[in-house]
Amino acid sequence: MKYAAPTTVDEAIGLLAGDADAQVFAGATDLIPQIRSGRPKPFTLVDLKKIDRLVGASESGGTWTVGAATPTSTLTGNASFAGAFPGLSEASGLIGSDQIQNRSSWGGNLCNASPAADSVPALFACGARAVVAGSGGERTVPVDEIVTGPGQTSLANGEFIVEFEVDTPPANTADAYLRLIPRTEMDIAVVGAAVRVTMDGDTCTDASVVIGAVAPTVLRVPDAEAALVGSTLDDATLEAVAAAASAACNPIDDKRGTIEYRTQVAGVLAKRSAKIAAERANS
Ligand SMILES: Cc1cc2nc3c(=O)[nH]c(=O)nc-3n(C[C@H](O)[C@H](O)[C@H](O)COP(=O)(O)OP(=O)(O)OC[C@H]3O[C@@H](n4cnc5c(N)ncnc54)[C@H](O)[C@@H]3O)c2cc1C
Repeated sequence: MKYAAPTTVDEAIGLLAGDADAQVFAGATDLIPQIRSGRPKPFTLVDLKKIDRLVGASESGGTWTVGAATPTSTLTGNASFAGAFPGLSEASGLIGSDQIQNRSSWGGNLCNASPAADSVPALFACGARAVVAGSGGERTVPVDEIVTGPGQTSLANGEFIVEFEVDTPPANTADAYLRLIPRTEMDIAVVGAAVRVTMDGDTCTDASVVIGAVAPTVLRVPDAEAALVGSTLDDATLEAVAAAASAACNPIDDKRGTIEYRTQVAGVLAKRSAKIAAERANS
């Protein structure tokens, strides 16, 4: 196995273009356990963390740019970021432990393509975009177009995510993320739910509802969004949000939760996240 640590995006593109068996990594918190458990070893490991553009977070002109290899602890420790995106910050802060969060990145969490990845529902709910680089140049795509199935992405051979863009939320807008795990920490979500709402007084004027770990990919729930918009988040609306989230589920049955359990919990977490997001938007 070879190890390469490029210092520029172009150098990384060159390394990947010349080696069909090369694989990028950031924190390696998914990659190393996978290699140890017998997954095929990439011939060349391309470390993205030495490329300045891939590490760091800054805001300019109403958009946050977050390097794809930035440790999630950098984001949760940034008061401006956490203030603008409380749900995305709490989702990033749920990944593993402090030690894991000093390594784990959004790029790895997304491109590992687990349906249970915690930051992904929150990235969807915030309308994040991914800047993808490859030998054909750079392109910007909505984050929800990257993962196509468990362990599968739409990235072509030799492509990788350079950075994420997330627009600063409009006024009276906030997000929230809740997940259920069988123990208090260090476990994978049985269900995750991210909601972002914009409020005009008591009335919701815009909403994103996204659920994770209940289908092969993270899911947006348009019926729950439609129920929220124009409502005051009264009890009937929240029950409609829960029913829509449960109806959207297509979960697996495993030791962490049955299909029935995950389906019910998805509804409960979606309505609770909506309530928290609305309270934050109005505070
Ligand atoms: C003990 C432990 C606990 C964990 N707990 C959680 C948890 O609670 N919630 C959760 O969601 N995850 C959890 N994880 C999984 C993991 O930590 C996260 O998915 C993390 O965000 C992965 O980031 P990384 O930078 O370490 O990815 P890496 O391991 O470096 O990469 C993961 C995959 O993404 C690809 N990749 C990485 N960066 C890019 C890029 N920029 N462009 C294209 N492809 C890329 C790699 O090729 C690889 O296939 C846990 C892992 C461990 C070991």
